[in-house]
Amino acid sequence: MTDNFFDIVAARFPADADTSFIELESGRRYSYGDLMEISGRYARLLTGLGVAKGDRVAVQVEKSPEAVFLYLACLRAGAAYLPLNTAYTKAEVGYFLGDAEPKVFVCTPASEAALAETARAAGVGALLTLGGDGDGSLAERAAGLDPAFDTVPCAADDLAAILYTSGTTGRSKGAMLSHRNLSSNAATLHRIWGFRPDDVLLHALPIFHTHGLFVATNCVLMNGSGMLFLPRFDADAVFRLLPRATVMMGVPTFYTRLLADPRLTPAAAAHMRLFISGSAPLLADTHREFRERTGHAILERYGMTETGMLTSNPLDGDRIPGTVGFPLPKVSVRVADEKTGEPVPDGDVGVLEVKGPNVFSGYWRMPEKTAQEIRPGGWFITGDVGRIDARGYVHIIGRAKDLVISGGFNVYPKEVETVIDAIDGVVESAVIGIPHPDFGEAVMAVVLKRPRRAGGTVDEAAVIGACKEQLANFKVPKAVAFVDELPRNAMGKVQKALLRETYKDRFGR
Ligand code: ATP
Ligand code: MG
Repeated sequence: MTDNFFDIVAARFPADADTSFIELESGRRYSYGDLMEISGRYARLLTGLGVAKGDRVAVQVEKSPEAVFLYLACLRAGAAYLPLNTAYTKAEVGYFLGDAEPKVFVCTPASEAALAETARAAGVGALLTLGGDGDGSLAERAAGLDPAFDTVPCAADDLAAILYTSGTTGRSKGAMLSHRNLSSNAATLHRIWGFRPDDVLLHALPIFHTHGLFVATNCVLMNGSGMLFLPRFDADAVFRLLPRATVMMGVPTFYTRLLADPRLTPAAAAHMRLFISGSAPLLADTHREFRERTGHAILERYGMTETGMLTSNPLDGDRIPGTVGFPLPKVSVRVADEKTGEPVPDGDVGVLEVKGPNVFSGYWRMPEKTAQEIRPGGWFITGDVGRIDARGYVHIIGRAKDLVISGGFNVYPKEVETVIDAIDGVVESAVIGIPHPDFGEAVMAVVLKRPRRAGGTVDEAAVIGACKEQLANFKVPKAVAFVDELPRNAMGKVQKALLRETYKDRFGR
């Protein structure tokens, strides 16, 4: 056996090849035997197309069991798997293909015609489609091939995947992840979350992102258990499937949507043993309301594309709202001064730095950026601001790039958001810095309130009043806007860059 992540998980697959791996709502079921066969055929097709160790295989496909088998086929072929967000436009795909220079690109039948020229211009060797039939169909071309495929041996440091970050703070960067990064994370996750062979994961996350792929799917693979696959989050489908699941992994918006639904009752969640949240901050209110409505304390955890999972609230023990829990085994987390990089005194706020077998080896074709973000000793600068409390729980305060400097004073948006979010009638807020002639930057609050009929009578005076009462004057917003929706990306992250752009001229140019 080699250190190829596929070899590591395959050694743990259930002895009975008929054990379910993925089941769709339609009842269609794919077993571990199917996984071996289909990924074997796909891997044979890829190597036949000249894909060799280290080559990139880029994919922009809809979520499906076949898409998971394609991911596994890339690992088996020793290639680097490179999934692209399904929302990316043709121009964006062109940029990523040019950046990654994949040997093979797999897209949907619907986008094939539009992307053919883009792929050719980027030097892609072969363009295939997933999900349809026709000449370029991967499934058709692989159909007659021998499913017995010897997985290409890989060392722990070999490249397994390139995952682009969400682009919340700037252009997405390609994080290079090794087989060791994948296996160290998956080995920890299924253990700390107490996965059992009969666990069934309700999987409604996208699979082009680390959360749905390397947290959720890899955890299930390492555990040799099954999952119920939804193409996307849909509350109706979730309520239909919850009685058959035991664990759900989601982003905070999943939980706020479930809370908005009268079907969320203790009975609806009675079969579940664990609800997990990550990828964006879970509001303390959401945590509390979910517990009141279902009896379940959502387990919040924290991670990122570059590092996989970093911290988790405990399975047994206090799951504290507003914290992301403890560093995972083998993962070190420290809090450092943003400017000097020196660790700050215990309990103080600073930038979180992390180290461990889960930390990526660098950004694809960005050696300077890599050198800036990974210190010589191996500490990766996450860019998240936080602190570790006396009990060892990690608190995320916000992102270093979101810091607002108003009149020379540092304002952490999360601190202001926490005060505003607690106002009766406010659902959520996003605090940003916008250009201001006197202060350099001014604090601005963009507020989502409950509909008027549901008690949403808050106004600017109420927001300012609450902030004045609880915060130093320089932290009080100089502008407040009310919106019907906060802009979010596929992972439920608020797009603050868009908000800053929208309101940049509020105080004149
Ligand atoms: P980019 O790096 O391109 O700006 P991104 O950081 O949003 O985008 P991801 O790697 O998808 O890309 O997200 C990781 C980030 O998500 C973390 O650095 C952190 O800011 C945030 N995050 C993840 N989980 C949590 C959590 N439980 N609470 C608060 N923030 C979280
Ligand atoms: Mg990031």
